[in-house]
Amino acid sequence: MPKDEKSRRDLVSLRENKKDSNNFGGELNRIGKETPEGLWTKCKNCEEIIYNKELEENFKVCPKCGYYFRLSARERIALLLEPKSFREYDKNLFPADPLSFTANQSYQEKIVEDQKKTALKEAAVAGEGFIGEHQAVCGFLDFEFLGGSMGSVVGEKVTRAIEKAIKKKLPLIIVSASGGARMQEGILSLMQMGKTASALAKFSEKGLPFISILTDPTTGGVSASFAFLGDIILAEPKALIGFAGPRVIEQTIRQPLPEGFQQAEFLLKHGMIDLIVERKETKKILIRLLNFSKPR
Ligand SMILES: [Zn+2]
Repeated sequence: MPKDEKSRRDLVSLRENKKDSNNFGGELNRIGKETPEGLWTKCKNCEEIIYNKELEENFKVCPKCGYYFRLSARERIALLLEPKSFREYDKNLFPADPLSFTANQSYQEKIVEDQKKTALKEAAVAGEGFIGEHQAVCGFLDFEFLGGSMGSVVGEKVTRAIEKAIKKKLPLIIVSASGGARMQEGILSLMQMGKTASALAKFSEKGLPFISILTDPTTGGVSASFAFLGDIILAEPKALIGFAGPRVIEQTIRQPLPEGFQQAEFLLKHGMIDLIVERKETKKILIRLLNFSKPR
């Protein structure tokens, strides 16, 4: 292991288990596997009752009002990658609890609870697969796991994915959904911002494309690091994207915020992102962008 990599790894708090466990390659090829039991779902926006099958067929976008239900990391894989093409990296990285953190619930208890709830080991899933004919390294954050927050493992998985893309000379695609840095790991979480950003600086020197996709919500330390460092930044309609919450900002600047502030449409208008893409079009758009950026 190179020296700088070794010293970087000393600065993280994680456990690694070499033994194989769950793999996302096989059965995760259908959206809506995680739709709650039962036939119907009530839309969180228009409160209409939607037939689950109809919701799944519409990529979990409400057919009545266009509300975007959140997708899990698995559902994103199914949405964007060719069936059975995904090979997961570092699937045995587990979070440690460096501060023995306890609030209402201990960090360790919360991890176990969210591991059960999501069947994930951590809030990030990274790996490689095919999008159309393009092989790419991909990362996905899952908001259901501790709010998609970035602790040592998420930062390490994203960094390793970037390094893998450099090594294999592949494009990089990361889909973010995150409340920000993970407070339960204190300063170690904040260090992941610098770590992922510096890995992306090396990636950028290679002339490889990084497409960042921001989904609802992308905030805090994730928006302030890798998520906004994409060569091309896409977002889903109406996604909440920002750094601090609106209330904190209003209190700081002592002014009411403009309407739609921190929504994808506002950010597009102000030049912060490149394109808003409808969920059902995302894969098609990615293929077009990868066609453009293909070395000739
Ligand atoms: Zn609706």
